[in-house]
Amino acid sequence: MEERKITCIGCPIGCLLTVVIEKDEITVTGHTCRIGKEYGVKEVTHPCRIVTSTVKVNQGVEHVVSVKTESDIPKDKIFECIQELKDCVVEAPVSINDIILENVAGTHVNVIATKIIERKEDPHG
Ligand code: SF4
Repeated sequence: MEERKITCIGCPIGCLLTVVIEKDEITVTGHTCRIGKEYGVKEVTHPCRIVTSTVKVNQGVEHVVSVKTESDIPKDKIFECIQELKDCVVEAPVSINDIILENVAGTHVNVIATKIIERKEDPHG
């Protein structure tokens, strides 16, 4: 039997979960709602996270745009995701929800913009 104490990240309350793994059975206690129970099971079987970062912008009024994965990705893909985003450059203008990178780290999850970046005025135009 293995017992793990984890904090639910489903909302700011942060319930302290106890997850007991025994043979093929996983029991979660300490949750206040369904999200906590699902999180507890997922955290010990297939831990995932939403990744937030920034990406370089060409010709923008700001040099970077904040981005995030559209949904959570496996924890063991986070490093690869961050590496791919480091090499990524987008052209301004950028709108919220624009797809910045498709299928990041082979996860079938897209990375999207979470901020508007206008294009710099062309001094010659
Ligand atoms: S179990 Fe429910 S109430 Fe508790 S932290 Fe998770 S989401 Fe929030």
